[in-house]
Amino acid sequence: MSQTNKQTNKQTNKQTNKQTNKQTNKQTNKQTNKQTNKQTNKQTNKQTIQCPSCHFETLTMKTRCRDLDVYECNNCSLTFTWPLLSGEEEDTGNENSSITEKDFYDGLLKSHDIQSKIAIQKAPLMLSEYSKIMNRKPSSILELGCGTGQYSDAWNRLNVRWLGVEVNKTMLEFCQEKQKNVVTFENFSKSTELFDVIFLSQVLEHILEPDNFIKMLFSRLANGGIIHIDVPNHDGLISIIRKINPINPDYGFIQPKHHLIAYNKKSLSILLKNSGFNIINLKPYVNNDPTYGQLNLCTRQFS
Ligand SMILES: [Zn+2]
Repeated sequence: MSQTNKQTNKQTNKQTNKQTNKQTNKQTNKQTNKQTNKQTNKQTNKQTIQCPSCHFETLTMKTRCRDLDVYECNNCSLTFTWPLLSGEEEDTGNENSSITEKDFYDGLLKSHDIQSKIAIQKAPLMLSEYSKIMNRKPSSILELGCGTGQYSDAWNRLNVRWLGVEVNKTMLEFCQEKQKNVVTFENFSKSTELFDVIFLSQVLEHILEPDNFIKMLFSRLANGGIIHIDVPNHDGLISIIRKINPINPDYGFIQPKHHLIAYNKKSLSILLKNSGFNIINLKPYVNNDPTYGQLNLCTRQFS
């Protein structure tokens, strides 16, 4: 090999090595940057707190309640704890909802008969309101979180097809024993039946992803159908008294781990509008309102 060739080869090798090194360095840097970015993103995601309803990230921290931070969404005014603990590990909850107190279910079982009688008085008043809104008599009603199926007989008497959905095993077994038309949430999700009325009493505040849940319900309404939801009012008098009571460990209707989300008129209205609903009636009612009041208040009076 001539000297000229040797030199040329050396130079070529040097250049090639340099280039290779540069490329390798570039690649290594790229990879390192990618990894760093991924790690940073992961950390950021972990720390990002979002409103579970409207997904805004601009929030006001209100207080701490039973070791959880409590935030209010600056957009929709929903109040919620962070983290939002699911009831997956508990007997009385599941991965999509916070727990429901065992005492509450025990109360429902004890007072099933009396509650069914009260439901027989209430259902005609509810039917009358629904019929006025719909300009016709509804033919079917879906009740999510139906407990012991207290409304079952009441709606059957009015010739309205009633279907209950329940997640709690004890409640489901009770309903099956009584041969009520109640299914698990999984079986309900697999079906495609549409309903004239969807009714949820004291259920929504337990749902950890309310926007997806309400959108799913919207898709299960028949044409012209309505949804009837009652929730504790975080702006109501009872909630205000709870908030200012220094002995009360809860914050209004934020009652961990039972209630981790609390609604007022604004947050409920935005959630429903974002999911495609028109609001027909959004009012605070007393618990013993003959049409819109709760059956479970009566439970506590009679048990
Ligand atoms: Zn929000």
